[in-house]
Amino acid sequence: MPRPIYAQISQSALRHNLSVVRERLDRAAQAAACESPSIWAVIKANAYGHGIERAVRAFGQAQGLAMLDLEEAVRCREAGWGGPILLLEGFFQPQDLDILDRYRLSTSLHSQEQLDMLEQARPAHRINAMVKLNSGMNRLGFSPEAYGAAFESALALQARGVLGTVGKMTHFATADSGLGPDWQWTLFQACTEGLPGPVSVCNSAATLRHARLALGQPEGQVQWVRPGICLYGASPFDDESADALGLRAAMTLRSEIIGVQDLKAGQTVGYGATFTASKPMRIGVVACGYADGYPRHCGTGTPVTVSGVPTRLLGRVSMDMLVVDLEPVPSAGVGSAVVLWGEGGPSVDEVAAAGGTIGYELLTALAMRVPVRDAD
Ligand SMILES: *Cc1c(COP(=O)(O)O)cnc(C)c1O
Repeated sequence: MPRPIYAQISQSALRHNLSVVRERLDRAAQAAACESPSIWAVIKANAYGHGIERAVRAFGQAQGLAMLDLEEAVRCREAGWGGPILLLEGFFQPQDLDILDRYRLSTSLHSQEQLDMLEQARPAHRINAMVKLNSGMNRLGFSPEAYGAAFESALALQARGVLGTVGKMTHFATADSGLGPDWQWTLFQACTEGLPGPVSVCNSAATLRHARLALGQPEGQVQWVRPGICLYGASPFDDESADALGLRAAMTLRSEIIGVQDLKAGQTVGYGATFTASKPMRIGVVACGYADGYPRHCGTGTPVTVSGVPTRLLGRVSMDMLVVDLEPVPSAGVGSAVVLWGEGGPSVDEVAAAGGTIGYELLTALAMRVPVRDAD
């Protein structure tokens, strides 16, 4: 028998979450009497831990897929995805352009080095590109001063038959917070005014909370939003839950109680003896530790569900095990079902918050050793 831990992935939840985004955009577009934007479902990092092939199956209704690993992009083609694929970091070396050409991958174009590589390229098919503006994130992209010239170079490459569609993109740093995306949006508009091609600016937070940005360009321009995290049923916000957004958890991390201990008052739990029982109590040992991807930063009080009953983690998470309070679940014993996060348990965002991080990190850090099964 393998250890009882496994992650369950729900196709129906993935589909549902995509349709939630679609409906929100359609409603906003209807209200504004404009075209509804197209969706690039972001499936980087092995589809946020859910598996590339599963994501390809579940996101069939998306207009495109976006990711950054070239091998993952090729796997999408091999899994039968015929639509657009956008490489969010683009290509890294000249040989990559052969893969872009062969598998018809679209690219983000964010550096002079990439433009130089394209100057030397003779692809058999035109490569579609989105020229990226660094509008304040200060990660990838041309500076506002350099953007116009970079776009001109891209148009020259288009005229030579190297590039196909040339569009404009940027990435928001604060769409999920009170600062909002407007400070970057204003700069983006100023830098791209009058330049042709499709536009892509919105991640999950901007798509869900600032839908007008996904619609707000001059008439006739195609909009591509780039939602990621919300498609997996986690929230991009720390002040609005996935549940409140109408999203469903796509990943459920399950395990079982593999041992029970009866503590006397004064006894402690785990490494560092960080939890001390103040009275006699029953505790359960769960087959799940940080080597499975459960965050070690989660301490006493982190929510967990045993036999469908909410309870809490006790003490430090170890490599292969963690300990839970069985007081609210007197019937629980060895073999009782545990939900670490997901359907029937705490949300991945609640667990992440208890560990001082975000759901993104937990989903993408699910360890290789955890078997993944399809829920439906
Ligand atoms: C990851 C990423 C997204 C999606 O972000 P979410 O917050 O998961 O919606 C969109 N665009 C770019 C460039 C990204 O790197």
